[in-house]
Amino acid sequence: MADNGMISVEEARARILSFFRRLPAERKPLLQALGQVVAEDIIAPFDIPPLDNSGMDGYALHAADTVGATAESPVRLRVTANLAAGYVHTEPVGPGEAVRIMTGAPVPPGADAVVPFEETDEVLRGPGERPNAGDTVQIFKAAKPGANVRGRAGDISAGSTVIPAGRVIRPSEVGVLASIGAADVSVYRRPVVAVLSTGDEVTAPGEALLPGRIYDANSQAIAAMVLKAGGIPRVLGIAKDTVEDLTVKIRSGLDADMIVTSAGVSRGDFDVVKDVLAREGQIDFWTVRMRPGKPVAFGAFTAPDGRTVPHLGLPGNPVSSMVSFELFGRAALAIMLGRNDWERPTIRATVRQRVVNTDPRRFYGRCFVTRGEDGRWYADLTGPQGSNILTSMSAANGLTVIPETVEVVEAGGEIDVMMLDWEHAP
Ligand code: AMP
Ligand code: MG
Repeated sequence: MADNGMISVEEARARILSFFRRLPAERKPLLQALGQVVAEDIIAPFDIPPLDNSGMDGYALHAADTVGATAESPVRLRVTANLAAGYVHTEPVGPGEAVRIMTGAPVPPGADAVVPFEETDEVLRGPGERPNAGDTVQIFKAAKPGANVRGRAGDISAGSTVIPAGRVIRPSEVGVLASIGAADVSVYRRPVVAVLSTGDEVTAPGEALLPGRIYDANSQAIAAMVLKAGGIPRVLGIAKDTVEDLTVKIRSGLDADMIVTSAGVSRGDFDVVKDVLAREGQIDFWTVRMRPGKPVAFGAFTAPDGRTVPHLGLPGNPVSSMVSFELFGRAALAIMLGRNDWERPTIRATVRQRVVNTDPRRFYGRCFVTRGEDGRWYADLTGPQGSNILTSMSAANGLTVIPETVEVVEAGGEIDVMMLDWEHAP
């Protein structure tokens, strides 16, 4: 397990994730369910298309009538109707007859092919000049049986599973659901995540900044990460380092599905955070073999209604807290959402300058990855790597994953990079 009492990222993550279950399902209108996971198999109630229909604007006819037709010696057919999409023509098409038909309109009985306008004398007519029933049309090309007819159930058969439970709703799933007439869908609920900053020095953006104080970057950054991970952030504000204030603020978040706090979890910390967390619930304080973000706390509070509310205590430094949330919080949210695809894609990239791993912890260095002209990926550190330097996080699109056992990667060496802006590994 541990050296110097430290645990690996994997162990910390496994311990945290074992606490989480997916949330109950809820019914939501299609658009609002985007990004959520379908909670039940979706079964098609009918065929799509429900009837054989035309794939082109043209003439529905008997293919046999068109045998030998060319532009030089066209076949002339009698037009018996003009059929728009959305209307059903029940009268059979007889030999020597044709029905003018629009894309999507059901092919009338008797007809077994559609000849597009381009292969008829329709193209010779002026704009707006349509044939009336009783007029004739000349066919310039022979049609094979079935030509331009889209068969019933060609997309979906009644009774088949169009979307299996567990699938994430993307725009194409919204489309499929709408195509079978569904207005809403059962999906696992989005987790509500209470976000709380702690520290006497921490000031809400928008307020005046007193000497020695700093603005609260963490609440906003973590809330933004919650949103991106599919959760609903509830920003609780900032708790002073007093037992009273912290207790009140934590209790105000107990209706959430998870509470995320930042700061006050370091070893030998001055803050009262640890005491209050321990008093209000159970809490473990870990040092994780990673940089940035060594100290992490994980525990649970008990809500007034008896529910257990998991609590992730992030380090105070903004980059540490973001990287820790990236590794632990985002995965926890994914599980509550019913997703299992929370791992970010990792690529192999060449470093262009020497990278030093200053201590035996895994180095999640802020880097920017580009594709070189040789088609390979290249990674450059984005600047100073102090855990308080948020701008180098902002300049990054990835995090290096340099193992705890590697002290130096020379320029030109290859490393793994976890891509932060790519949502999920395939
Ligand atoms: P702590 O874990 O409380 O010792 O905090 C570590 C460092 O993170 C200190 O420099 C804090 O001032 C800073 N810090 C704590 N909370 C925040 C926050 N919400 N936003 C920005 N920096 C913070
Ligand atoms: Mg503090």
